[in-house]
Amino acid sequence: MAKKNILIVPGDGIGQEVTAVGKLVLDKIAAKFGHEFTYDEALIGHVAIEATGNPLPDETLVKMKASDAVLFGAVGHPKYDNDPTAKVRPEQGLLKMRKELGLYANLRPIKLFDELLSASSIKPEILKGADILFFRELTGDIYFGEKGRKNNGDTAFDVAEYSRFEVERIGRKAFEAARTRRKKLCSVDKANVLETSRLWREVIQKLALEYPDVEIEYQFVDALAMMLIKNPARFDVVVTANLFGDILTDEASQIAGSMGMLASASIGDGTGVYEPIHGSAHDITGKGVANPLASILSAALLLDISFGMKAESELVINAVDQVLKEGYRTRDIADATTPADKILGTEAMGNEVLKFI
Ligand code: NAD
Repeated sequence: MAKKNILIVPGDGIGQEVTAVGKLVLDKIAAKFGHEFTYDEALIGHVAIEATGNPLPDETLVKMKASDAVLFGAVGHPKYDNDPTAKVRPEQGLLKMRKELGLYANLRPIKLFDELLSASSIKPEILKGADILFFRELTGDIYFGEKGRKNNGDTAFDVAEYSRFEVERIGRKAFEAARTRRKKLCSVDKANVLETSRLWREVIQKLALEYPDVEIEYQFVDALAMMLIKNPARFDVVVTANLFGDILTDEASQIAGSMGMLASASIGDGTGVYEPIHGSAHDITGKGVANPLASILSAALLLDISFGMKAESELVINAVDQVLKEGYRTRDIADATTPADKILGTEAMGNEVLKFI
């Protein structure tokens, strides 16, 4: 029996709807295993801008640092997507949170539930056996370097920067994870062109000497983008920089059938943040159709990584598997063969998972 306090940060759009379901799952796990989970809630993103003028209010940051783990929804609003001149933006809250909490490693497990083989746009025979764990560096690279305009605004620049220390700490996490899996690590860079990538490769090559039991391979990002679709089953752990990881993990989400299925963990030296990889999806917000499984699987990652509760985490993942085996689908993962009475909304899908827990 453990006592933990969890901060719920739903954010914007469907973040609100799916995080509510993730919290119910945590509640159910606490009841079943005799843990005591207490919850608090905080604002981020567009809702925080509306309430305080700040996409990451100080109060939210203080609560995050004080909690044992954060279950996060999404940030974003169409108002800003179509207005590149907006000075205050929801995503600033997300980037600041990552920097302030030192969340330098973003883990994205990409695993296809067998029942969803047909939901992907990739052929089932190519997908079968795909099980990849991505490590995306999260607090460096072009996202955090100097940016600006010159020549009267007609030229823009974003500086990409990495230090040896930044590469080494994420590299180490990836090697350690590979050791607990199939002992294969692929490091992705663009070392034929970029200096940051040459440093990246140099650091990983040096680290590899400490992990002789892990088989290491190096790929350029353009080649990996192709291989992911051609033969995803050959990869085990993949480690890469912030920008490459952002793009590759969205590409890889198609291996799992839908953005609505994928969870992620952002970890560093303090509080971990667990969130679906999808955004605020305003096209479906308020309709009650959002797939809550990514949030539920984020809760499973939270239990495993931040609380060391392996059995609890596996129970959640198995419950999701069972629900899919029973044929239940949300709209985004349904296909022409799904009977109408098996297509569920957000809440009903959550209830099915709770039943199996
Ligand atoms: P999105 O992930 O919100 O949506 C992409 C598509 O996938 C949409 O058609 C959406 O309906 C569908 N989708 C996403 N999640 C789903 C779910 N759980 N169930 C069913 N369908 C789902 O990406 P977008 O449309 O490019 O961005 C919308 C907003 O979200 C933008 O403001 C963007 O900046 C923001 N965003 C935030 C994050 C984050 O908070 N981490 C990540 C990506 C995008």
